[in-house]
Amino acid sequence: MDRKNFLKSLAMIPLSTQVMKLSALEQLTSSFASTDLMPVLFVGHGSPMNAIEDNVFSREMKAIGKKLPKPKAILMVSAHWETKGTFVTAVEKPETIHDFGGFPRELFEVQYPAPGSKWLAEETQKTISTTTVGLDYRWGLDHGCWSVTRNLFPAADVPIIQLSLDYTREAQYHYDLAKQLYALRKKGVLIIGSGNMVHNFGYVAMAPGYEGDFNHPFGHAWALEANATFKKLIDTDDHKSLINYKTYSNALKLAAPTPEHYLPLLYTLALKDKADRVSYFNDAAVAGSFTMTSVILSGKLV
Ligand code: ZN
Repeated sequence: MDRKNFLKSLAMIPLSTQVMKLSALEQLTSSFASTDLMPVLFVGHGSPMNAIEDNVFSREMKAIGKKLPKPKAILMVSAHWETKGTFVTAVEKPETIHDFGGFPRELFEVQYPAPGSKWLAEETQKTISTTTVGLDYRWGLDHGCWSVTRNLFPAADVPIIQLSLDYTREAQYHYDLAKQLYALRKKGVLIIGSGNMVHNFGYVAMAPGYEGDFNHPFGHAWALEANATFKKLIDTDDHKSLINYKTYSNALKLAAPTPEHYLPLLYTLALKDKADRVSYFNDAAVAGSFTMTSVILSGKLV
């Protein structure tokens, strides 16, 4: 990217974040009063430091969390739990897993003591009919989960389970599996996909002058293009193209060189109701090849 385009993209990103901030919060306020269908979220989790840092992204997550109706329980689909087969966590007191290296001690000391939910684990087993969902007693809450929920629900008083990503399966399989979770939206369950739409470690680049700041807004041209394309396809309900992202365009291929940070988005979108409206928050590219862009689906039951 040349300097002119770089400056242009830098100037554009914060503006779009501000605009989306208003619309996302306004939508949440206006729609929750008259719905018994829980919203669905996709949250770009980005750096694990967002769990403890006070920054533009963590502040926005906190603001969204305050507007959400309090769920009976949370079902989290995190990029960081991949298994052969599909599992849900079934432990009563899930451990806070620090599944990363090279971060400050403060991050390793974070505990997110939300309880598990045997009820939701079994309900998820019953709801998914096309495959066997196993109960897992070893995994706890990984950082894809708690770096998000610590901001959305800082009191850690909402029970959480995680649903694993079967790494042997393709995107269509995950989308079809996710559709079956729809009934949980009517039972007070908040379903959250946690990943990053654009997530490519091969092209990491900090904005010049901000070398130590992973979160400073900066995206390669292809990353900004992918971000815009993802939003266009989401806005037009073109889920088919989103499922076939690998062949849709070079930008989308670069956005998700491995599937695990992208697939949670498909879990979220598969749960879209006709009455849902789409809004975005944290709509920004960082470190050249990542986006924090997050999605809320919410609306009345038809
Ligand atoms: Zn991650």
